[in-house]
Amino acid sequence: AIGWEKELSDLMGDKRLLLDTESRERLSKDYYWYSPVLDRQLRTKLADGIVAPKDEREVAQLLAFAYRHQIPVTVRGAGTGNYGQAVPLNGGLVLDLSGLDRIITIGAGYATVQCGVKLGALEKKARELGQELRIYPSTFMKATAGGFVSGGSGGIGSITWGNLWDGNVLEAVIYTMEETPRRLVVNGKALYDYIHNYGTTGIMTELTIPLAPRMEWVQSVAHFDSFEQAVRFGEALAKEETIRKRLISPMEWPIPSYFMPLAKVLELGAAAVLLETANGTQEQVKELALRYQGRIGHVIEAEQYRKTLGLSDFTWNHTTLWALKSDPTITYLQAGFSPDQYLEQIRLIKNKYGDEVLLHFEWVRSGGKLSPNSLPLVKFQSEERLYEIIGYFESIGVKIFDPHTWMLANGGRGEVGSMQRKKRENDPLGLLNPGKIQDEWTEEGSRYGARHG
Ligand code: FAD
Repeated sequence: AIGWEKELSDLMGDKRLLLDTESRERLSKDYYWYSPVLDRQLRTKLADGIVAPKDEREVAQLLAFAYRHQIPVTVRGAGTGNYGQAVPLNGGLVLDLSGLDRIITIGAGYATVQCGVKLGALEKKARELGQELRIYPSTFMKATAGGFVSGGSGGIGSITWGNLWDGNVLEAVIYTMEETPRRLVVNGKALYDYIHNYGTTGIMTELTIPLAPRMEWVQSVAHFDSFEQAVRFGEALAKEETIRKRLISPMEWPIPSYFMPLAKVLELGAAAVLLETANGTQEQVKELALRYQGRIGHVIEAEQYRKTLGLSDFTWNHTTLWALKSDPTITYLQAGFSPDQYLEQIRLIKNKYGDEVLLHFEWVRSGGKLSPNSLPLVKFQSEERLYEIIGYFESIGVKIFDPHTWMLANGGRGEVGSMQRKKRENDPLGLLNPGKIQDEWTEEGSRYGARHG
């Protein structure tokens, strides 16, 4: 007995408050199990109840209710995050915001949406109106706009538009966790306290994001005998300003062998670069590939865009998903290679680890600079070995954003001082997704300190 069910069920009605074990288990989980480290630590975490508000007013009521009873609140969009972001570490309520799914306006160059809108639905609507998303994660069919901004970073389109911090969020409506929750309208640099915050500094109910003019996209695969040729082609294409693109993803063999639905169209033993480029650039792409002794294989014409399984379904962290289907012992890292030394870094890693580490890259232009980002696959042996590999990557200048932690700062979000200050202001009792952000004050001042491990 937790004591507040009756009051909450009077507030919400029975249908939108779930207390049964099956629902609580299902909705207390995200994709943390990609990490054997997180799997061990998070498997048994469980909310006391799931509650699904239908509008902003109910969100505010629920936050006030939780504040009054000092109940921790963890928000959930679609629950596709990989770091246990949406897993409640200290029980309490999971606030399922997938019902706030209205597209409010699509104007010239922007969309204002409720946080629970699925990015796939938004992209479809925007394209009907001659526009499209600038950036989206490979999970876009399921993922929510609020979940992407609060828990993601970048994805398809980031080769042109950068990641979430590159002006790809224009405004957000945020609710605070107080006796009377405040409604804040946040824009400009102030958004940095809320982008990738795991719902720790405030709850986002509405969001305005920029849109790009609609383009027609051709998807193609370029094959190369060596991975080095494949990544050098990727770099050349990334730098080629006259070719518009959404995706450049070089994969070393045997990663392409994991892509079962593409088995018939991918060259055996070859490195593959998965591409989305503007319709009409095919000849240019082919010539560029030729310069690196490559050849274009499988092509999905622009008319087929989104009508069949797309190539982006094999890139970003979807690569890990396909690898896991073939070999359940595989896990992954998040790595930032140096733009001017990455070929040497690849050589060093392959020499040291061979097939224990398999590489693919997603080229990104962030802060105006091109960088070869990677989600390396790792054959998992032990946590010790995993952190030894991480140590080696770092020793040769490859930045690691550790995906095996739920702590914001350790995961590569970097300095979180400003977020901590904002949290203190917006969430004085430390009730929002407790345990995800380090705070000396949380440990002392709240019942819900970070309990790592
Ligand atoms: P959730 O998982 O529900 O939530 C994410 C975090 O945000 C949680 O901490 C949650 O508490 C918080 N949150 C959710 N909604 C709100 C809100 N309204 N207000 C405040 N906090 C909120 N990510 C990328 O960035 N790029 C990728 O290419 C990518 N590829 C992926 C591929 C696979 C196969 C998988 C499993 C994951 C991938 N991800 C990727 C991670 C994830 O899918 C995305 O970040 C996605 O956008 C998260 O959206 P969601 O609705 O599922 O969020």
